Amino acid sequence: MKELTSTVRISGRPITDYVIVTASSPTSTETYSAENLKKYLDLALDADFAVINDTQPKGEYEILVGVTNRRPRNPELQSEEIEICATTGQLSICGGDDRGTFYAVLAFLESYIGWRWFGADTEVLRPQAAREIFAGEVVRRKPFFEYRNAMFFDATRNSEFKTKISMNTSISEDIKAKTGGSVDYSGFVHTFTYLLPEKEYFETHPEYYALRDGVRKPTQPCLSNPDVLEIVTKNALETLRKNKQAFISISQNDNQAYCQCEKCRAIDEEEGSPSGILLRFVNKVAEAIEKEFPDVLVDTLAYQYTRALPKITRPRHNVMIRLCSIECCFRHPLYDEQCEANQRFCKDINDWSSICDRIYVWDYCTNFCHYSMAQPNYNILRENIKYYAQHNVVGMLSQGNYNGKGADLNEFKSYILSKLYWNPFMSDAEYEYHITDFLEGFYGKGWRYIRKYMDILLEETADKHFGCFCSAVGNYERVYDRMDEILELFDKAYELAEGIQKDHVKLARLSAINIKLQILNTKEFAEGSPEKADRIAQKVAYYDECKSFGLRPMEWRPFSDDNEENLVNGCL
Ligand SMILES: [Zn+2]
Ligand SMILES: [Zn+2]
Repeated sequence: MKELTSTVRISGRPITDYVIVTASSPTSTETYSAENLKKYLDLALDADFAVINDTQPKGEYEILVGVTNRRPRNPELQSEEIEICATTGQLSICGGDDRGTFYAVLAFLESYIGWRWFGADTEVLRPQAAREIFAGEVVRRKPFFEYRNAMFFDATRNSEFKTKISMNTSISEDIKAKTGGSVDYSGFVHTFTYLLPEKEYFETHPEYYALRDGVRKPTQPCLSNPDVLEIVTKNALETLRKNKQAFISISQNDNQAYCQCEKCRAIDEEEGSPSGILLRFVNKVAEAIEKEFPDVLVDTLAYQYTRALPKITRPRHNVMIRLCSIECCFRHPLYDEQCEANQRFCKDINDWSSICDRIYVWDYCTNFCHYSMAQPNYNILRENIKYYAQHNVVGMLSQGNYNGKGADLNEFKSYILSKLYWNPFMSDAEYEYHITDFLEGFYGKGWRYIRKYMDILLEETADKHFGCFCSAVGNYERVYDRMDEILELFDKAYELAEGIQKDHVKLARLSAINIKLQILNTKEFAEGSPEKADRIAQKVAYYDECKSFGLRPMEWRPFSDDNEENLVNGCL
């Protein structure tokens, strides 16, 4: 990449004239940031950058990483904010805190050298994106969302990659120490399960649990029972004493069987929503938590039966709401007036945002029944993230295929989301740039064929409403009719792909095959007919390919826990 040497200049001088400077006692993040800077500059420029500390005499051309005696931290910078600042002979790369410094180095490598982190197996240099940074140029920005979690396989499992696309939660301890920490929960979600353990209490105290049709069931706690409040508070405090994080979640279990005892029901009626009794309960727990942990925020869900705002109760100042969009249609933007499911959600988010200025959202970006089936939400990602940003949402979790390598352009989604988390208000041109940049870097020279496939999916499903639990049947018949054309697009993309890109094309193709096989399943073929034999052969081939990629058929079903014959049928 020697040709880059002439392009990449800092304030008129070739970048190779510069040395990297850190403080004499840098933080572990500053050290790691400087190491990353050196690593990716060396690779890009076929160079060997020197890294010195600031006890050395000031040189003529220096790149400062973090805070040094050459330049203090800009006191205006906030947490996670980056500042890249060029003057004659000096480039300063620094953040408002350690994590900001790490992000500032990545931003420099991306914007001026052309590095991209598209997937855990794809860090690539896009030399056409490299450019000079001029004296007097200052770049300052910070992520719009304070909590960023694109829950896709690589973006969940691989902490190093995760931090490269600036996700800031659930990162392995070693990487966390080197990248400025993370924003985490003590107890992530559905925590009543362990804050009021069924094993410990249900037999002796069934009245602690939900009354459903005259019978107590351990589905949810009875929130009007004062003993339940005492136990949950005690266990929440113990959880925090053992493992204190930014948030603790005091949240309903993952079912809809909430308590309908006389007392609970009366409060539900008064509040007009079961979120009322939940919030009264969580507010009380939060009051106790505040006394010992004034800096911890208490989170609860607005999910399924608690999604609507209660009439009376409001979250306490240390209580946060995580609003969940599980019932929505993910084919159309949230604000689409033709889309009923989304209109109902809009009412709820409007209501919550009228009383809360710090909402987190749990959003859904996959199909949990068919992990590898295409979920063409490419066009709504930006629309919805922007919509959230306009409604007081400051934390985003976008749940995709996180527990098995996913097909369906997963890496595309996590990459685009990572960009939107920083800037939900980006222009059309910028959004288009990131899409093209990704497709070209990840799928190779035949990227236009993948783009065409995306367009066909969008074109042929424009009038369909997709939830995050759905089948191809009833939704993808028109896509099926164009399957020969689609598979040809993949063949062409495959031919032009190089190295690992070939795997990426094959993996993306599985989503189309999944659609094809699901629709084929609805056809009647005579027993023993060649069509039937062919369908079985196609299913086995699909199954084997999924398995070779470690792709799970659906959220709760790994490949190993069932016999293969059932799975071949079950996963389609
Ligand atoms: Zn009750
Ligand atoms: Zn819809």
